[in-house]
Amino acid sequence: MTSYKVKVIEETCIGCSVCAQICPTDVFRIVMKREGEYERLVSVVEREEACIGCMACVENCPTNSIIVEKSEVKNALSATSTSPSA
Ligand code: SF4
Ligand code: SF4
Repeated sequence: MTSYKVKVIEETCIGCSVCAQICPTDVFRIVMKREGEYERLVSVVEREEACIGCMACVENCPTNSIIVEKSEVKNALSATSTSPSA
């Protein structure tokens, strides 16, 4: 089964909520985040397991703040894992 890893880059997210509105499976939630004495809206990934990899969020985020990557079956080791060389 294919699943997806979804990440929001908080530093560049402007909380516009496009992703939350466009995602067909309701993966994102817009929350208020406190930064020092200020508060701002950011998107957080709340239901990553529901992602179907349609890429609508990636294509429509105005600040390119979303990364969606395919992650293959859970029992397969991640291709990004490094094995120590002798
Ligand atoms: S569409 Fe992009 S900028 Fe807008 S809330 Fe979502 S992640 Fe943030
Ligand atoms: S790729 Fe599609 S299903 Fe996955 S989080 Fe983005 S909009 Fe939602």
